[in-house]
Amino acid sequence: ALERTAQAVRMESLGQLAGGVAHDFNNLLAIILNYADFLTEEVTADGRRDLDRIRDAAGRARSLTSQLLLFARQEPTQVENVDLNEVVSSSSELLSRSIGTNIRLVCRTHGQPLPVRANRGRLDQILLNLVINARDAMPDGGLVVVGTDRTADGGARLSVTDTGCGMTAEVRDRLFEPFFTTKPADQGTGLGLATVYGIVEDAGGHIGVESSPGAGTTFTIELPRADGPAPEAAGTSVTGPSPGR
Ligand code: ADP
Repeated sequence: ALERTAQAVRMESLGQLAGGVAHDFNNLLAIILNYADFLTEEVTADGRRDLDRIRDAAGRARSLTSQLLLFARQEPTQVENVDLNEVVSSSSELLSRSIGTNIRLVCRTHGQPLPVRANRGRLDQILLNLVINARDAMPDGGLVVVGTDRTADGGARLSVTDTGCGMTAEVRDRLFEPFFTTKPADQGTGLGLATVYGIVEDAGGHIGVESSPGAGTTFTIELPRADGPAPEAAGTSVTGPSPGR
């Protein structure tokens, strides 16, 4: 437990540092992008090509700084009662568009509403991060199953399973560390799972992973149930594919 606290403190200070830097960089990048836009009106065709490169690089830098800002999570967000099933079914179209055509996405949502207390946008973000990672683990195609279920104590469980490359124990031990990535520099920031981890912690939940090389990967997130009327006892009936697909 002690080690976990030290890890949490380290994550928090890293988050503050990253957030401060990202915030200032975002402002500077906005200036660069603005002036590049102004100049485009005034230069020759050659100059315009160079300007396009500037804009392209600044645009990529800005998408990195927005990931850093999300990781740092300094802006307060609104927490509400959210039905986890609804998060999955309303994202399923965006998700299947994000994974390309050689990967099949199946959503298996629990038959009853699964209310959790969390920020809606952050739940969407978690799901997208996990599904994008699943996609990256299956360059030759495969299957992603997104499932929801009720936990024994009335909370909610979200799982994302892929049939991808899986990971070694070394990767598994480090994957929640900020900036840890095995992807090429222009494809991975190593912030995705660190962000997911932080959001789940903020919401009072847990995240776990099961994975081995060649055997695919399952991420499981458990969130405490939202306060309010106790949920009816319900079985773990599974429906799918979700109506959104
Ligand atoms: P990034 O995706 O930018 O690399 P993440 O924090 O999301 O950053 O992931 C960290 C690393 O964890 C990845 O580079 C990859 O090695 C590993 N990983 C994450 N999800 C999966 C998965 N579904 N299958 C295999 N490896 C994964």
